[in-house]
Amino acid sequence: MIAGILKEKNGETRVSLVPDVVKQLQQMSVTVWVEQGAGDTAYFNDNAYMQAGAVIKPAADILSQADIIFTLQPPSRALIDQVPAGKIIIGILQPLYRVGEVEYWASKQITTFSLDTIPRTTRAQTMDVLSSQANIAGYKAVLLAACSYSRYFPMFMTAAGSIAPAKVLILGAGVAGLQAIATARRLGAVVEVFDTRPAVKEEVMSLGAKFVEIEGAADASKAGGYAVEQSAAYQQQQQQKIAESIAKADIVITTAQIPGKAAPVLVTSDMLDQMRPGSVIIDLAAATGGNTSATKNNETVHYRDVTIIGNSSLPATMPADASKLYAKNVFNFLKLILTKEGSLHLNFEDDIVKGACITHNGEVVNERVKSVMQ
Ligand code: NAD
Repeated sequence: MIAGILKEKNGETRVSLVPDVVKQLQQMSVTVWVEQGAGDTAYFNDNAYMQAGAVIKPAADILSQADIIFTLQPPSRALIDQVPAGKIIIGILQPLYRVGEVEYWASKQITTFSLDTIPRTTRAQTMDVLSSQANIAGYKAVLLAACSYSRYFPMFMTAAGSIAPAKVLILGAGVAGLQAIATARRLGAVVEVFDTRPAVKEEVMSLGAKFVEIEGAADASKAGGYAVEQSAAYQQQQQQKIAESIAKADIVITTAQIPGKAAPVLVTSDMLDQMRPGSVIIDLAAATGGNTSATKNNETVHYRDVTIIGNSSLPATMPADASKLYAKNVFNFLKLILTKEGSLHLNFEDDIVKGACITHNGEVVNERVKSVMQ
């Protein structure tokens, strides 16, 4: 079994496998081929891979001969065209947002596993790339906000006067939101939180933040822990309450997403008009449209005196740890589809294997992807 790691493109700084995991794969009789410089931007150089037992190879060899190719970003068609039928690609393929590409992978008879579609269960936690990367996004969002903000986060009593603590508002208390709460609290901010899932209230409060409750959220119990779209009445009530909080906030971190759909616009232009001069919004949902009416993906927008940073790629700003955690997720997933001797064993009875598999034997096999294709 040959596993291949390619150098990521389009500004992606992370790498899909790190030298420590190369060592572990060798113990499972998996040979690892690495494209020259694949880990450079994440500070894992070719020497480190070679010392771990990997072989440095040209991309063309990896694409044409590796049995499994690891990636972070979804593959381009040009890349897919170089991979022979029957081979496997594993990555964060974002299939719910790229149905046309998924059909292309199937037509080329490539077996694809997307680690962003595994079920969010306890057993799957060690392979949960959404969690390992969102944790970084939440942490970096707060640091970025602190660096972009013209005032202090903590409260200070100094001889030159008193400083009030920053008021941070967090919209969406999933993995990124919870980490953002913890980080903002560590910096001394006062934190308020909204989420459509009442189940997160206790976690929010245990981190020392205030949870703003809204009655009548849509039942998300059948959505695998994800949020679902809300009724017009709920949205109206939520908007009113967010408007009250946002007018007092200094920093807003938005993380609200609905898988396979555009992000909900939670911050309207009316709300932006009410924000304090110098306040900062970090929108982690920018890639799927953003949670504010003025967000632009990968751009910093100055709306009156409010700075809005639309960035869904914050994990790539911490590439060494992001790659390390991602590689461990990948390795844990591999243990499900490889035997101890390193040969392929696909058990589609396993809910994690089934949930991650997007295309196989020339067909789109993933139920969630099929549901967005209809
Ligand atoms: P996500 O990135 O899909 O969404 C971020 C948050 O935004 C969620 O908490 C969501 O409820 C919230 N949100 C969506 N629409 C909203 C709206 N209109 N207003 C306010 N908030 C809104 O979430 P995620 O971090 O990927 O987590 C999704 C679920 O998976 C959560 O229930 C999480 O606890 C669960 N989870 C489980 C495991 C596990 O057990 N293996 C691991 C990680 C996450």
